[in-house]
Amino acid sequence: MVEPADALERIADALQRVRNARPKVAAFRRAADTIRPLTHTELADLAARGRLTDLPGIGRSTAAVIEQALRGETPEYLTRVEGDAPAETQPPTELAGPVRAALRGDLHLHSDWSDGGHTIEAMAGAGVALGHQYLALTDHSRSLHIAKGLSADRLRDQLGVVDALNAELAPFRILTGIEVDILPDGTLDQDEELLAALDVVVASVHTKLRMDRDPMTDRMVRALESPHVDVLGHCTGRLVVGQGRPESSFDPERVFDTAVAFDKAIEINARPERLDPPSRLLAQLVDREAKVAIDSDAHATWQLAWQDYGCHRAAAAGIPVERIVNTWTVDTLLDWTAAHAGNG
Ligand SMILES: [Zn+2]
Ligand SMILES: [Zn+2]
Repeated sequence: MVEPADALERIADALQRVRNARPKVAAFRRAADTIRPLTHTELADLAARGRLTDLPGIGRSTAAVIEQALRGETPEYLTRVEGDAPAETQPPTELAGPVRAALRGDLHLHSDWSDGGHTIEAMAGAGVALGHQYLALTDHSRSLHIAKGLSADRLRDQLGVVDALNAELAPFRILTGIEVDILPDGTLDQDEELLAALDVVVASVHTKLRMDRDPMTDRMVRALESPHVDVLGHCTGRLVVGQGRPESSFDPERVFDTAVAFDKAIEINARPERLDPPSRLLAQLVDREAKVAIDSDAHATWQLAWQDYGCHRAAAAGIPVERIVNTWTVDTLLDWTAAHAGNG
């Protein structure tokens, strides 16, 4: 049994993961939002009269999903898209367990302010339910138009919203943050003073992933040298499911040495279609005693649980728990991020 709205969201999720089909993902998310306020009876009544497609954003394929879910069947569309995710992305949980138990938070996730499917409040609630003490809200920066990246003004508005939520949720804490784009020249896609005001800054490459090795290395090194950056997100940019995407070409030794020199963390991005960095690079992080952050990069509430994939990979690589920055208390974590901001 799957609730119709959940079925639509899971389809959006699987499409995003496997095929990266953004307009379709958005259509399924919109359809889920449309029907979520309706009761089961209201939906069943509309379905019985063949009127589901009268609802805004509900077309023939989304209506079919809703009808099948209402009948207690697993919608065919859902089975098909979830079936496309390869089985090897399922982690053996016995390895992930001790690392997961040590985690206190998550430093990379998105809300519906950018391309996430859920509100900040819903994401925070899901974090509480997972036993987290903090989550860093890291919506995209402005140049990523396709992901509704936040302008400086919208990010300032978001800080106010987070403040108000934190007053309600204490002692749980939503940390302010951003997943800031690393522009091709290595500069960051947000105002300096705003970056300085945030608790956590994750910097990631999202464009021109096929740049030559030397300029790509310089780009990532320059970002890590910025006093505002705390974590380098999904460093190779690879995708390992569906059509996939090859790793960006860069000098990992220079990038990781820079991270160590500036006391920054390299992200273990736990999204099953990314699993980034690959294992051979995780081994280099262990050799260098580099700090890491195990992040879900969640775009929906249930994706917060994807941290397990990253925990499994960290354990398999032999990364000591004390080098995983999101096992730290919120105070220790914020001392660490503030020390970067103070450098420059
Ligand atoms: Zn990203
Ligand atoms: Zn992200």
